[in-house]
Amino acid sequence: MPKKKIDETSVESGYRTRSRLIHGRSHSHRWDYNHHVIPPMTSSATFRLDSVERGALGFSEFAGTAMESEGHHPIYIYDRLGEPNGDMLEENLAIAEGGEMALCFASGMAGIAAAIGSLAKCGEHIVAHKILYGCTYSLLENWLPRFGINHTLADMTDLSATRSEITPQTRILYFETPVNPHMCLIDISAMRDMLDDINKTRPANERVHMVVDNTFATPYCQRPIELGADLVCQSLTKAIGGFGTDIGGAVIGPMSMYHDLIMFRKDFGGALSPKSAWPVLVHGLPTLSTRMANYQKSAMKVAKFLESHPKVERVFYPGLESFPQYKLARKQMRNDKGRFAPGSMLYFVVKDADDKGEPATKLIDWAATHAYTLTLAVSLGQIKTLIEAPYSMTHAALPEDLKRARGLAPGGIRISIGLEDWQDIIADLDAALAQI
Ligand SMILES: *Cc1c(COP(=O)(O)O)cnc(C)c1O
Repeated sequence: MPKKKIDETSVESGYRTRSRLIHGRSHSHRWDYNHHVIPPMTSSATFRLDSVERGALGFSEFAGTAMESEGHHPIYIYDRLGEPNGDMLEENLAIAEGGEMALCFASGMAGIAAAIGSLAKCGEHIVAHKILYGCTYSLLENWLPRFGINHTLADMTDLSATRSEITPQTRILYFETPVNPHMCLIDISAMRDMLDDINKTRPANERVHMVVDNTFATPYCQRPIELGADLVCQSLTKAIGGFGTDIGGAVIGPMSMYHDLIMFRKDFGGALSPKSAWPVLVHGLPTLSTRMANYQKSAMKVAKFLESHPKVERVFYPGLESFPQYKLARKQMRNDKGRFAPGSMLYFVVKDADDKGEPATKLIDWAATHAYTLTLAVSLGQIKTLIEAPYSMTHAALPEDLKRARGLAPGGIRISIGLEDWQDIIADLDAALAQI
């Protein structure tokens, strides 16, 4: 397109260079979301409002439950309230997870905090599974009690044990499945039936809501909303982001939760930066299915290899027939086409006569510096295979005796399978196992 000559009769032509370099063309039509094949990365903390009337309309429509404002384009005001990249990502996340709406947050933890903060208030109570992501545990243990929100940990593989912890004050049933790191599963539909039974005698504002952290499985491998969850939390940092470039989180659920969640995000401030929403929108989510299909194909090969290795005590991968909850895995871990989808995460325990974790540490330390395809790092779901020791790393926040009592062994190793050739991953693991 030939460059247009600068119009020297325009509004700005009478202004000095310094002012013109700040404002440029006063109204540019070069900013165009409709005709880009890939949406541009928005980079404006605040938005031009044209008139007080339009500004007032924008504020009055904020947090309204109509996703697209009736009759006109959304009126953006300020990034913390909403902006184009995050909003586009939210539409796609709602579709991916099968929810009515999604909201993005600055991190998975910001989303979890918002989900809990919107459903429980001072004097109310949470029942959570006994093993949680370390920071979620710390949030429940160290911070929420300051706001008068207390919790009880329960073994959610045991329905009646879980039910007996629910009090008249309980508002949230919170869990991850598969549980990080040892892949134990919690039966989402069984929890739904239990809550329906409990809720049928309670008024709406005293109901118990089910919040499921679906980060490990992703919506590719498990559909918690279809199985009865009220809210789903995701760390976009993990498999949905997929490339490990950005931190982010999301909460997906019914439209009835939208208002409280977006107000919480506005006031506690954990909004996702558009510069972090963009890579998830453009690279992460569009490749999720393809990556997950490949990850889990390799995960199955790696799990079988480890299972047959003489130095390995136990392998926990929902795709293995030896998996303790294989039947539940086959029922619950299904992709949107209904196919069994046991995921990309596996946990194994190496033989360790002293039970102090020395062989596992030796294996991981060797891999960290010698194995080309195994990277020692926390996080998961990336195109690179990541390996770590949950006992002393991701789950360090849990007290020693609790870890032991809840089935975490010092010899445990977590692997997040990446996109490398599975033969290379197995060769590197084989070499690492030869060191112990
Ligand atoms: C990483 C993770 C989180 C927290 O997500 P951030 O994006 O790091 O805040 C929560 N739950 C699980 C299961 C995770 O793996």
